[in-house]
Amino acid sequence: MLIVMKKGSTGEDLARVVRSVEDLGFRAHVIPGAERTAVGVTGNAAPLDPGVFEGLPGVAQAIPVSRPWKLAGREFRPEDTRIRLGGRTIGGGDLFVIAGPCAVENEEQVLSVAQLVRAAGADALRGGAYKPRSSPHSFQGLGREGLEMLARAREATGLPIVTEAVDEDSLDLVERHADVIQIGARNMQNYALLRRAGRAKKPIFLKRGMSATLEDLLLSAEYVMNEGNSDVILCERGIRTFSRHSRYTLDLSIVPALRDASHLPVFVDPSHATGLRDRVAPMARAAVAAGADGVMLEVHTAPEHALSDGRQALLPAAFRELIVQLRELAVIVARRTEAVR
Ligand code: PEP
Ligand code: MN
Repeated sequence: MLIVMKKGSTGEDLARVVRSVEDLGFRAHVIPGAERTAVGVTGNAAPLDPGVFEGLPGVAQAIPVSRPWKLAGREFRPEDTRIRLGGRTIGGGDLFVIAGPCAVENEEQVLSVAQLVRAAGADALRGGAYKPRSSPHSFQGLGREGLEMLARAREATGLPIVTEAVDEDSLDLVERHADVIQIGARNMQNYALLRRAGRAKKPIFLKRGMSATLEDLLLSAEYVMNEGNSDVILCERGIRTFSRHSRYTLDLSIVPALRDASHLPVFVDPSHATGLRDRVAPMARAAVAAGADGVMLEVHTAPEHALSDGRQALLPAAFRELIVQLRELAVIVARRTEAVR
């Protein structure tokens, strides 16, 4: 249920509505908007009677919400969520580029990639200190030491840091060192971790599980938001299909579908989706054309020596060329949207 307040309603009216929701044993989420304030209701097992709230002073309308995701849905919040990060905005218009190595390997490597992506115009630095690898014999990441290297790279370049937490212990450390906490594809349905992420004071970069539907992804976002953290960024990173020509199948059709269903920013990671350097640029361009709010790209100065995902890492020159194209495309896409409106 979404309770929409009248334009001239008072703070007292709003407090009364919140109280009446809580008195029924449900949760009230106040959603301020450009046009009007609304109160989202969650926790009710059965549909509520709109009449209960429509009789209260200051209430314009009580609307039943049909989707299983509430806080993440456009029904609750029609305007795009915007998240401020490093002086830039994620969501709502501008293209946001996150780039960096797959893993933090050593100080020199992370610093050199940070400097080159910064000079090329990236908005944030990525790099895993905790690596959820398919094999236990593969490089698992530098852990806390890696986080400290990322923090020093931020100091040197001014770029905000996006890095993954793989469990609740690493999330504590990532929250302390990073600017955005990534939850990887393999943990998208780790509900205990999602709840912990929901109590974090940093935005959450939530990657789609490789077998997850749009509904699964939005309900995972809902877990985070239900704990009070509304800064969630969704990321398509490829799903498993019968195709063998690329590492995963990039499901770009989910971009407009997510933007329809949700107000949360939608990113695309063509590096993990394709697994092959030569396929990254075309899929990144397609992602921007499809309306993505941002992309996540893996970059390495010497991919042949990379400790993980070397085959999909862009070389510096290719990254520099791609980011220029992506910014140009973003302008065209935005202009088209304006023209249609
Ligand atoms: C990553 O971004 O470092 C990563 C491991 O990606 P994914 O969770 O999408 O596999
Ligand atoms: Mn990787």
